[in-house]
This record gives sequence, structure tokens and C-alpha cells, in this order.
Amino acid sequence: MWNKNTIVLALFILFAVAVGIVHIVLESAVFLSILVWALIISSVVFVVLRAGLKKTSDNGVFEKKELRIITESLREGLIIYSPQFKILMFNPAAEEIFSLKKEEVIGRLIEPKLSQTEKFKTLTQIIFPSLASSISQLSEINVWPQITEIFIDEQNKKFYTVLNRITDNRGEVVCFLKLIKDESREQSIIQSKNEFINTAAHQLRTPLTALNWALENILKLSENTSPETHEIAAEAIKVSERTLKITNDLLDVAKIEEGKFGYSFKNVDIVAFIKGIVDTVIPFAGQHSSRITFSHQGIEELYLSMDPDRLGLALFNLLDNAVKYNAEHGLVSVMLEKTPGDNFVKVSVQDSGVGIPEDEKEKIFKKFYRATNAAQVEPNGSGLGLFITKNIITRHGGEIGFESRAGRDTIFWFTLPMKTVDTEESASLFRNFS
Ligand code: ADP
Repeated sequence: MWNKNTIVLALFILFAVAVGIVHIVLESAVFLSILVWALIISSVVFVVLRAGLKKTSDNGVFEKKELRIITESLREGLIIYSPQFKILMFNPAAEEIFSLKKEEVIGRLIEPKLSQTEKFKTLTQIIFPSLASSISQLSEINVWPQITEIFIDEQNKKFYTVLNRITDNRGEVVCFLKLIKDESREQSIIQSKNEFINTAAHQLRTPLTALNWALENILKLSENTSPETHEIAAEAIKVSERTLKITNDLLDVAKIEEGKFGYSFKNVDIVAFIKGIVDTVIPFAGQHSSRITFSHQGIEELYLSMDPDRLGLALFNLLDNAVKYNAEHGLVSVMLEKTPGDNFVKVSVQDSGVGIPEDEKEKIFKKFYRATNAAQVEPNGSGLGLFITKNIITRHGGEIGFESRAGRDTIFWFTLPMKTVDTEESASLFRNFS
């Protein structure tokens, strides 16, 4: 409101009025001294005010510069346009999204008919979403900011946009500000990352399986001949088996993220099922001098709907961890029980090992997370087993959780609904996920 020119003008008017009044009222000698004083005072006021103004304008410059850096480093496209749809600002991310240089758009009026030109088609559809193939309004109509998802079919593109308006003191709209996120680009980056992991893990799996097979043969051949070779081969098998498991985990995670981790449900006796998985882990527990027990609380046979391969992997992961992170000569207890109300069964796997540090508990199901104490016990791990396990249990309609005391013990448990599927239902589930 008070710019430099208005202030200077006001000062001069004040000064002239003062001089005029004094001139009328007083004689010349007194008038001269008052004139000098008036001059001094007005100069001081002028200097002080100027300094104040300069400070304000310096702040303005600073804010402008800061704002420019922020908008230029945004990963989202940012467009500012006037109420007449004239482009006022176009950041580098917007240049990339629309394949347009800012010099080509700044100052240009965007009108609906521009959507007929190849060059400005996408930009026009984003500014006027009703021209796009379809839109989905995510915020309420007439509520600011307006959040919209815009689909452009011919380019197979999906944009997430947030539109806000900037108003002046009187509430009049000065300009509009639109933030644009190209969701299809993000999805294609995730997809290509998944494809990379998939290909790399597939390529690794074949030679690793062959290596494992060769090492098993060496182990057998060295049984009665060379104890040293036997020991080395046994150690090498352990490492190659771990590496193979990490490779398989990577493949499973890539499938889960692509929604291609298929399930085939059938009715299986949970008691026999757990016994079978426990049996496969006993040799591994033996190598770690651990024992495994299984108690089933009087349940002798109970058929549930499950994918035995997937659920087998989930239970194997929990048992594998319980053995790996157990104390020397520790016990691993597996328990099956019915929950109160008989709607679910609960399977728990308890060990007496290193436990999980209190401040790391909330991250334990996150992909690639390994607690700080785990790497000291077992350097070869992926941090993917629990992520996969949680996915499998959730897909079975159950829940998973744990209790742990660092340095003492851990219980991982999961629940499963006590229901069976008829063959038709299981076939349709399989079709949906394969
Ligand atoms: P990995 O065992 O390959 O590291 P997981 O996803 O199976 O990956 O486990 C993630 C982390 O959870 C482990 O690294 C470990 O820190 C912790 N954890 C899992 N089970 C146990 C357990 N029984 N005792 C102590 N820590 C465990």
C-alpha cells in the first residue's frame, strides 16, 4: 500500500503545507530557522522510511527466490494460470510431463479448442478435465482444493491433480494453481523395477539350484573319505540354501507387488499339515542344536480352507526364524489351539532366543527390515520372510502378531478362520488369482 513514491510525495506535500503556514504566521528570521529544522526532520523521516521499505523489498526478493527454488525442485508438475486461463508459471516437472518448454506456454491462453492440437492436447485436458476421457472427483465439488484423477485413454495415462485458487484481500480470484502427478509414470517405474528383480532372481535360481545339487553330491562323496571336505561342503550347502531362499523370497515379493501371487484353496487337515512342516525343519533345527515340539491341545483332525503351499511357506518362515534366532540348545514350541468363540484357530511359534528390541518392533513386518541384533546372529537374511508371511496370512482371512522380550524370547502367532470351501469356490478363487 505504502510504496516509495507515495511516501516521498506525502512528505513533500506535508513539507510545503508547513512552510506555507509558517510563512504566513511568522517574520523571515524565525521563518529561516524553522525552514532549516523542517528540512532536517523531513530528511530523517525520509531516510528511516526508505530503510524500512528497502527491508520489505529485500524480504520480497528473498521469498521470490526461495519460491522459485521450491517450484523448480518439485517432482510434481506445477502450473499457475489466470482466471482467463493464461499460463503464468510452468515448472520443469510440468515441462517434462507435457513435453512442452515453458517459453512455449507462458503467456498463452489455454482454450478448450487447443485440445485438438497434438502439442497442447494433454495440457488442455488437464486444465479442462471435462475434455479428458474420464475423471474421478476425489474431493467434494466446490470445496477447495479440488482433487481429481484424470484418465487419458489414448495415451494410457492417469494423472492426480490438486487445484487451488489464490485470492486477494477482497476474496477475488487472482490466479489458479494446479499440482499434477503423473501416476502412470510412477506405476511404470515400479513395474520395470519389479521386472528387473523378477528377471535377476529367475536367472540366479537355476545356477543356484545346480550349485546346491553339486554340493550335495560332494557332501555324500566325502562322507567316508575326507572329514575336512565334508565339513566345508556342509557349510557351503547352508550358504547356497540361504541364497536360494533369498532369491525365492525376492521372486515372491515381486509377484505379491504385481498382484500375481496366485492362490489355490482346498480343505486340508491343519494338524497333519503342521506336523509335515515341522518335520521338514527338524534337520535344520538339529544343525542349530535346537529342539522342536508340537502340541495341538486335543485337536486330532481339523479341516480348514487353505493354500497348503502358500501357508506352508508362511509357517516355514516362522519356524526358520525361531531356529535361526534361537539360543544355543534352545527350544522351539509350536502350538495349535482354538480361539474363544471357536471361529478361528491360533498357531503360535515360540523360541527362547535373541528377541526383538522394543524400539524396532513396529518395523518388523516391513519389507527388507532386519532388527539390529538379527544380523549379528545370522548375517544372511533378506528381511522379506515376514512381509511374505503377513501377506499370506491376511489373504487367508487371518491375523498375525508377536510378543517378544529382547534377549529372552519371542512368540509369533497367526489365526485362521475355521471354515472350509467347496470345490467350486476354491476353483473360482484360483481362477481369480492365477
Ligand atoms: P530375515 O529372517 O531373513 O532377516 P524375516 O522377514 O523373516 O527376514 O524377519 C525380519 C526380522 O524380524 C529379522 O531380521 C529379525 O530381526 C526379526 N525376527 C523375526 N523372527 C524373529 C525371532 N523369532 N526372534 C527374533 N527376531 C526375529
